[in-house]
Amino acid sequence: MVFNATVASAAATDLLYAGTDFTSLNWLEKQWVAWYVWIGNPIIATGLMSFLLHEIVYFGRCVPWIIIDAIPYFRKWKLQPNKVPTPQEQWECTKQVLFSHFTIELPAIWLFHPLAEGLGMETYQVPFPSWKTMAPQIFLFFFFEDFFHFLAHQALHTGVLYKHIHKLHHKYSAPFGLAAEYAHPAEVFILGTGTIAGPMLYCYFTQNLHIFTVYIWISLRLFQAVDAHSGYDFPWSLQHILPFWSGADHHDFHHMAFTNNFSTSFRWWDHIFGTDDKYRLYKEKVKAAKAAMKGSSIEKQKEIEREILEEVEKQGLLAEAEVERSAGKAKDE
Ligand SMILES: [Zn+2]
Ligand SMILES: [Zn+2]
Repeated sequence: MVFNATVASAAATDLLYAGTDFTSLNWLEKQWVAWYVWIGNPIIATGLMSFLLHEIVYFGRCVPWIIIDAIPYFRKWKLQPNKVPTPQEQWECTKQVLFSHFTIELPAIWLFHPLAEGLGMETYQVPFPSWKTMAPQIFLFFFFEDFFHFLAHQALHTGVLYKHIHKLHHKYSAPFGLAAEYAHPAEVFILGTGTIAGPMLYCYFTQNLHIFTVYIWISLRLFQAVDAHSGYDFPWSLQHILPFWSGADHHDFHHMAFTNNFSTSFRWWDHIFGTDDKYRLYKEKVKAAKAAMKGSSIEKQKEIEREILEEVEKQGLLAEAEVERSAGKAKDE
């Protein structure tokens, strides 16, 4: 039998969009309809779009950081200026991330549409919800993910879970954008739950969620994750505008010191539970050292800065060894 694309498109339009007034749709909504009609099968259309969105947003957001790493001018804003990733390191990391996207995410993504539909989420439907509907939903997903991550990430820093799962993500004590998703598959599953479960639960209880809103949320969450691993703190970075935003400054310290700063987007939980004590002490130390060094040569200032960074990293390595030792003990008992 020869596949007839026109007949298939007409059938998909009838099935999905009977009674829809296409003239009232905006440009993006029209493209949305065209995509679902062109693919003809909503499960494949949603799965493919989800996968492409992830790849384009993730790697697209990494590109500026790769360029910035290649330009020495930007070093003055690098949080650990003594550690700039080499192109080889970045390529090795990219290969690993791509491998897990294609072997784990791609086979699982076809479940996304049936799961979303089962929970009552709108997928192929148009028009999209208004900004007034989407904005509070997206904030709620940020809030849920951040708190979930704060708890789950701390669990991943205990003995066996660290040794066998989270250690991989801590390969880079000075992270870079591409390292955001460099993690064990079990970690992707555990921490990815924080990103996906918020919309799923929200949809289950309210029956009022469009997948378009979920895509905006996931795109923003990817931006957050890549930027937090970028290794740069610019004067115009978001945390200088919104003081409760974590940003690279917060998460870079987590990778360097191995402790503190477990949340993703916001600083408040680490602050409330005191899991940012070492970080705050470090910031004060840097500030005091900078004040004391006023007038001394740039070389001298850089040397002192390097000494402080090396001391934090040394303590971090000791803390990591301690966690791994506890995993060994747990096995022996
Ligand atoms: Zn960690
Ligand atoms: Zn990280």
